[in-house]
Formats: sequence, C-alpha cells, structure tokens
Amino acid sequence: ALFDRIEASDETIGSFLFVNKEEAMKQAEALDQLQAEDRMEGPLFGIPMGIKDNICTKDVLTTCASRMLEDFIPVYDATVMEKLNDANAVMMGKQNMDEFAMGGSTENSYFKKTRNPWDTNAVPGGSSGGSAAAVAAGFVPFSLGSDTGGSVRQPAAFCGVVGMKPTYGRVSRYGLVAFASSLDQIGPITRNVRDNAKILELISGSHNKDATSKPGMDNNFLKGIDKDLSGMKIALPKEFIGEGISEEVEASVRKAAEMFESLGATVEEVSIPHTKYVVSAYYLIASSEASSNLARFDGIRYGYKAEGTKTLEEHYKKTRAEGFGEEVKRRILLGTFVLSAGHYDQHYIRAQKLRGVIEGEMKDLFNEYDLIIGPTTPTPAYDLGEKSDDQLEMYKDDILTIPANLTGMPALSIPSGLSTSGRPIGLQLIGNHFDEKKIYNAALKFE
Ligand code: GLN
Repeated sequence: ALFDRIEASDETIGSFLFVNKEEAMKQAEALDQLQAEDRMEGPLFGIPMGIKDNICTKDVLTTCASRMLEDFIPVYDATVMEKLNDANAVMMGKQNMDEFAMGGSTENSYFKKTRNPWDTNAVPGGSSGGSAAAVAAGFVPFSLGSDTGGSVRQPAAFCGVVGMKPTYGRVSRYGLVAFASSLDQIGPITRNVRDNAKILELISGSHNKDATSKPGMDNNFLKGIDKDLSGMKIALPKEFIGEGISEEVEASVRKAAEMFESLGATVEEVSIPHTKYVVSAYYLIASSEASSNLARFDGIRYGYKAEGTKTLEEHYKKTRAEGFGEEVKRRILLGTFVLSAGHYDQHYIRAQKLRGVIEGEMKDLFNEYDLIIGPTTPTPAYDLGEKSDDQLEMYKDDILTIPANLTGMPALSIPSGLSTSGRPIGLQLIGNHFDEKKIYNAALKFE
C-alpha cells in the first residue's frame, strides 16, 4: 500500500531518490514466513522505513545527493542500519537531501528538488528534507536523518513532524558519510513522540568503530516517559524569541510556554548572551571539518572519475570541479581558507573558544533548569527558490538549532501549530547531555 502511495504522489513531492521496491518486498515476504514466536524478536517486525542517502546501506546506492557518489554502492551497513535490520524493519528506499548534507532546503541536491507535503510551493527544509517530507506525506512511518547544524530538526519543523538530534555520542556515526565529525549525529524523524523515542532506543549504543560513541549509557527512553510535569523547570532564552524571529513563531512559543505551565512546569525567561555568535562559529568549524573530510573524494578511491586527464593533479582538479556542486565547493574553499596559516588562529581557534563559551552558558542554565525551550526555526517554511540565491540568509536561519550541535546537547523539534498561511511551526526542546528522556517526557505531554 505504501509503495502505491509513493507511486501516486512522490512524483510531486520528490522525497525518494531511489525506491527499493523489489528488495523490500522480498524482505517483507521473508518476514511473513517467520513463525509467530520468531516475529517477536524484531521489535519493528515488518515496519517500513526511509533512510537519508548519506547513511551507508550495504549493496544499495548511497549518493549523498551528489554527482560525486552517483554510482556509489557501499559494501557494508552503517551501525544504525545493522540495528534496524536486526529489528526487522524494511527499508523502502533512500531519501533526498542537500548534497553532502550542506544546506537547509534540499535545493542543493544534484538530482532533484523535494516539495513540502503541506504546501508544494514551500521547501521541506533540509538537509534531511526528503526524510521529513516522506514521513509527513505518509510514505513511511519513520525515517533516519542526520543533524550537523539542524538538519533533522529544521525539516521536521517545516514538515510538521517530530525530529530528534540525540546527544553527541549517543548514536554511532559509523557508516554515516562524514560532513563535520565533531557535530554530526544521526536522528529519527517520526509522526509522534513515542515512535521517536522507540526508534532512538533501537539505534542508540556505542560501537567500536566510532570512538566518539559513548558506552554504558541507559538507552531506554520509553519507561517512565509518562511522568507528569509538576516541578519541572523550563528556561526560555530571550535571544531565541528576539530579533529575526517572526511574530507568529514567537506567539507559538509563548503559547507552548503557557501550556507547559498549565501542566505543572514553571517557565522563566533567561539569557544565553553569546547566541548571536553561534552561526559564525558553526560555519567556520563545520566548513573546516568538511574540507578535511571531503578530501577523500579524489577521483581515485571513491565515486566519480573525470575522463581524459593526463596528470594526477589535473585528475584531482577536474574530478572535484565536475563532481561537487556549488555549495559544497563554497564550504571546501571556506574551510581550507580558515585552516590555512595566518587565518587558523584568528578564525578557527576563536570559533572553538566560542563553542566553549556557549557550552558554559548552557551548562549553567542546566544547573538550574531541566529543559530549554524555543522555536526550532525563525520562520515557517519559505517558498522554493526564495532563498536559494542568498546563502547568508539561509545560514542565519540556523541560529536556533546550532547551539545543540556546538555543545553536543540533545534537542527535539515537535509540531506546535500552523502559521496563518497553513505551514507548520516547530517547538524545540533542548536538554542537558544524555537527558533525552526528559525531553521526550515533556514533549509527550505537549503533543
Ligand atoms: N543548514 C546547516 C548547514 O548547511 C545544517 C546542515 C546539517 O545539519 N547537516 O550546514
């Protein structure tokens, strides 16, 4: 039934890059053969899923929506895929995204644009735009995205679904094509909070091939998730509802704050003074790491290879000139510039220091408060093409999601109403490190 739905509507939405129908049907039929008691072993028995196309799937194309990896078929599964396959979920296909996860509207895909199911003139957000749009359109009950500066939460907000960026280290990044390794995390996109908590439970856990994934954590989020909110202290930073935030979005957050108060929590206005620097710091750090991570795409080891080149240098140059899109090149150039002698101290080191300052300011708040709330995005989804010529405008929109990446803290976006034009608005809940359960608890009451 879902494949029929995808066939009927994904021509317009454009959420999938590749539909895995034959394989998925085979897998589903094999599951049907299992005896009742064996079925219980996979907690996601037969449940369909969509996967962002920067997560490695064994024997299935993984393009990162880039010409560079147009024909790339991984020989292994990402840890998260192993876990979901073990849970007996069925992969329906790979989903569109901004090339190498760089962007906020999915317009940077080499292959196609994705439209927002709520309003097909609007962008779905990005970079996990295909994943969020597919969940919103009812093509799959859940998807996995990746979030380096907001790429799970922002498209979830634009598409009216639930998206979680877990604590850095909660989920193994092994098999996620690296963008900025100190910021990247994989997270679930779902239609409701409980599903989200369940999927995160299943993909969490350390792995010996990702040294930054943390062993020994309690990865159970559903048990005790029903607690009432009396005594919970919530902080609302004034910078999150200040300049640049649309009135409708601010009103929606204030309404959410009232709702939390009516549920027994207290909400107080606080300040995170260095918020205004997070976008600059993020783009310096993320581009620096990207310039290093993307050095592996050299026309020899992976993917696209330019033709007719005579020297090694010419081969590198032509391959990368033809294989990467505009935005990816822009980031590589910015990153190599920032890391070069003379600029490193002035830009990179200062960005890293800012990261420490922001973490300190947020940690201080968590000494006193359980959660920080605010909008996920300054505005609801904008029209396709509206910002694609103005990178800086798009970068600035990431101000509310970036703090959780710079500090490694967990953050969830949950639908909190519609704008007057009928486009979804997202509420963001940020927790202290490894406090996902508290986030889910509050979100469940809000839902
Ligand atoms: N919009 C941000 C960027 O372009 C975030 C991307 C992401 O989280 N992958 O860098």
